[in-house]
Amino acid sequence: MELPFAESWRIKMVEHIRKSTKEERLQWLRDAHYNVFQLRAEQVYIDLLTDSGTGAMSDRQWAAMMTGDESYAGARSFYRMKDTITRITGFEYVVPTHQGRAAENVVFSHLVHEGDIVPGNSHFDTTKGHIESRKAFAVDCTVDEAKDTALDYPFKGNVDISKLRRVLEADADKVPFIIVTITNNTAGGQPVSMQNLKEVRALADEFGKRVIFDSARFAENAYFIKIRENGYSDKTIKEIVREMFSLADGMTMSAKKDALVNMGGFFATRHADWYEGAKRFVIPFEGYLTYGGMNGRDMEALAVGLDENTEFDNLHSRIHQVEYLAAKLDEYGIPYQRPAGGHALFIDASRILTHVPKEEFPAQTLTVELYLEAGIRGCEIGYILADRDPVTRENRFDGLDLMRLAIPRRTYTDNHMNVVAAALKNVYDRRESITRGVRIVWESELMRHFTVRLAPAGQE
Ligand SMILES: *Cc1c(COP(=O)(O)O)cnc(C)c1O
Repeated sequence: MELPFAESWRIKMVEHIRKSTKEERLQWLRDAHYNVFQLRAEQVYIDLLTDSGTGAMSDRQWAAMMTGDESYAGARSFYRMKDTITRITGFEYVVPTHQGRAAENVVFSHLVHEGDIVPGNSHFDTTKGHIESRKAFAVDCTVDEAKDTALDYPFKGNVDISKLRRVLEADADKVPFIIVTITNNTAGGQPVSMQNLKEVRALADEFGKRVIFDSARFAENAYFIKIRENGYSDKTIKEIVREMFSLADGMTMSAKKDALVNMGGFFATRHADWYEGAKRFVIPFEGYLTYGGMNGRDMEALAVGLDENTEFDNLHSRIHQVEYLAAKLDEYGIPYQRPAGGHALFIDASRILTHVPKEEFPAQTLTVELYLEAGIRGCEIGYILADRDPVTRENRFDGLDLMRLAIPRRTYTDNHMNVVAAALKNVYDRRESITRGVRIVWESELMRHFTVRLAPAGQE
């Protein structure tokens, strides 16, 4: 008999979690203004808000932390991290930052100016925020296949090359760089193929443009290339990663994702001029060039994490769990962005809460219902996250309206996934009775989803 799959690690330390009652959750949710970001983590039983910084570090990472060099300048830990990044990505210059958006801030402060256009594939919310706050425009060139959640297409994260060409033909002089997000988080943790990365590179070269990879989940992207793309099944993850980055000029990185740490990030590039530009902003905003907001011990853990997570077994254990939950949802007929993404399942709220009008935010409503059902915290990746159009100030209802269940790395077991699937099924079974959603009581101008205050629609 063929042996079944099992994780490539075992558990050395546990953290207790607690269930709550429905009455408690109702009160907590009111106190949180129906925004799950405003809950206390203790009020959550299974937390699938994000996979960012919520994973479990390995014994090797914890051990490396003890060797951290906390020197202000020139710390050994920085050089260990930098050498690892250079070995894995090929980028010579490394600018440490405290997390991914800080890398964006440092680089975009140098490169993005008012009136610029930054084309890409479904820019991540902080990326879009950093572009729009500089009065520049993020133009989404994702393939149309990504908009049909029921369609099984292996590389839904891809850039539509003809859309990108149109942007460049019309406005090349306004484009400081092209940004490709791997995996494409907003489109559902969907990968970008090597073929597509090559085509973006060729088009960029044709117009003399540089390319940045927003690389938070680059290792998961490499895993999908190995599994799904012709010609890569015999290559190691590290070989695929090197090939991917050979097609970019630089990368912004949230190390809280595929570097398996709780906090950290960096910008890396092969170009001295970009490095010089970023240096001007890292010192005032992040810290000196050899720590940029990170402790020495954090840089040690980051280096080990990058190495661990560019190994097949670790990635396979993770993505297998995402697929496990997906198979449960298939069994119950619950629609999600297909095929399952690398770090999360994106539940298609618009196909579940069909009686909730889009003005009442179906995906946010589903998030609220799932929390009430079992204390499970998902995250709206939909009309609230999309913010308002910077020019018209209208809500943007043209994208997908999804509830993301992000799975932290090496944190929950498949039994937890069973609970998540059952709770979601219970909500799904009573979907016809959910007819009203939520309305906005207060919102901030940018990245409103973190702090928005909501109330049940139709109630004072
Ligand atoms: C998380 C993330 C960021 C921002 O990184 P932080 O570490 O949260 O600041 C940027 N881009 C993508 C694709 C991300 O997933």
